[in-house]
Amino acid sequence: MPILAAALLLILLAVAFGPQWWIRRVLRRHGVERPDFPGTGAELARHLLDEAGLAQVKVEPTEHGDHYDPEAQAVRLTPAHHDGRSVAAVAVAAHEVSHAVQHARGEAAFSLRWRLARHLGWVDRIASATLVLAPVVFIVVKVPLLFALQLAAGILLFASEIVIHMVTLPVELDASFGKALPALTRGRYLAPTDLPAARSVLTAAAWTYVAAALATLLNVARWFRVFRF
Ligand SMILES: [Zn+2]
Repeated sequence: MPILAAALLLILLAVAFGPQWWIRRVLRRHGVERPDFPGTGAELARHLLDEAGLAQVKVEPTEHGDHYDPEAQAVRLTPAHHDGRSVAAVAVAAHEVSHAVQHARGEAAFSLRWRLARHLGWVDRIASATLVLAPVVFIVVKVPLLFALQLAAGILLFASEIVIHMVTLPVELDASFGKALPALTRGRYLAPTDLPAARSVLTAAAWTYVAAALATLLNVARWFRVFRF
């Protein structure tokens, strides 16, 4: 029995944290500085945006993960990708620019993804509150079934975040392989020998949100976020 429990725990840990670990590894491996590259991730992003007629979209550095902010119309890149010259910097910059293109074209899947993502903050808070308050409710009313139900409800709510990201995965895959990779190939921004590495980075970029959502499922510290308004 203990072996079975340990195996189950290992599988659970692998499912929850494996994808994120893999993404970090891919970004690190292809984040090696390449002095032979003509520009940084930010410079390429600026160039691609201008080429797409999106001069109004800003390129900014951020500490909160690479992303495109449709409200501020800003492509935000982490320092390593903003100022770095690497396959990772180039591919991630092209991926985030692709979201700006999806937004500018008014692609339906993109706006659906954005609307769903806006509600994730609330799902997150309700899920956290449900889980954190479960022991309190148990101590007060002492009904184990209610405690179990509350735990299940909290975990289901967290799971819904993963489902939302899965549903919007096509938007991420389109950004990576429908737009970023063709742009990088067409413009010859990367040598053919660098394309397999770029493909790995673009896969990682597409799965970032799903991987992050999976990790939160077992990230107990995050459940307590509800108290940090
Ligand atoms: Zn993306």
